[in-house]
Amino acid sequence: MEGIVTSINHQQIYVSCNICGSSNEKLITTQNGYKVVKCIGCGFVYVNPRPTSETLKQLYLTYLPEKIEDPLLWDTYMKDVFAKAANILVKQFPDGGKILDIGCGYGFFLSRMKAKGWQVYGIDVSETAVSYASGHGLDVALGTLDNVKYEDKSFDVVTLFYVLEHLPDPLKAIQEIRRILNPNGLLLLRVPHTTPIVRILSLLGIKNNLYDPPFHLNDFSNVAIKGILKMAGFHNIHTFIGGVTSPPGAAVRLTTLFFGLLAEAVYRLSLGKFLLPGVAKTTIAKKI
Ligand SMILES: [Zn+2]
Repeated sequence: MEGIVTSINHQQIYVSCNICGSSNEKLITTQNGYKVVKCIGCGFVYVNPRPTSETLKQLYLTYLPEKIEDPLLWDTYMKDVFAKAANILVKQFPDGGKILDIGCGYGFFLSRMKAKGWQVYGIDVSETAVSYASGHGLDVALGTLDNVKYEDKSFDVVTLFYVLEHLPDPLKAIQEIRRILNPNGLLLLRVPHTTPIVRILSLLGIKNNLYDPPFHLNDFSNVAIKGILKMAGFHNIHTFIGGVTSPPGAAVRLTTLFFGLLAEAVYRLSLGKFLLPGVAKTTIAKKI
């Protein structure tokens, strides 16, 4: 079921659906020269074919999301989302705990949790980010879950902010996270949801590259997130808006704020029943 490679062609690999294993898919759109497809079996949206892991590694050497070069801007960007996530974790673990932030970047979320008395660890593929975080007194490893092996039941909490959409095999990553969580452990993750926006823009005839392939390989709806977490053995899965990001650039910031606040309002007014499609959301899930 875990995104089996079905054939290799010109440095591109074809994969089956990472969630349900089906190879039955339909084309949604082509962006940046990559095909974005939807699984007929479960509705999961992903890039297929895609570059090999080796090619992706090369591409990530020069990758700067949103082209933000000043580390401190990241802290501002994520402030509200980090604050809300930290509140949840503190409520769930009032005595503190041990946390691993996967794709920790410059380590701003970990610094927050450290200030609250938690034992904090991070992992990231960016050398620049890891050396910045280490320079600020954080215990951060360079690499991925594939090459940094943690013991079974090592952490109370594992977090991934805007990471899962980048991973070639998200199901495998979530299974690995479940292994390294304590029995009472909690996973908290945040992903964007692009498909509804692309659908509206294409109805209006507006061309865009919002799927951001090949950096984003997956687009998770609420159903897909629930599906993949269940498949990996997680329980008590709960998705909510979880705050609003504050990107640099006034126009983008205002749009994000507008839709973020709208999503929060709709969620609250519907007593947690309606999650506005197309905005990023946070999900928590328990190991047991
Ligand atoms: Zn599927």
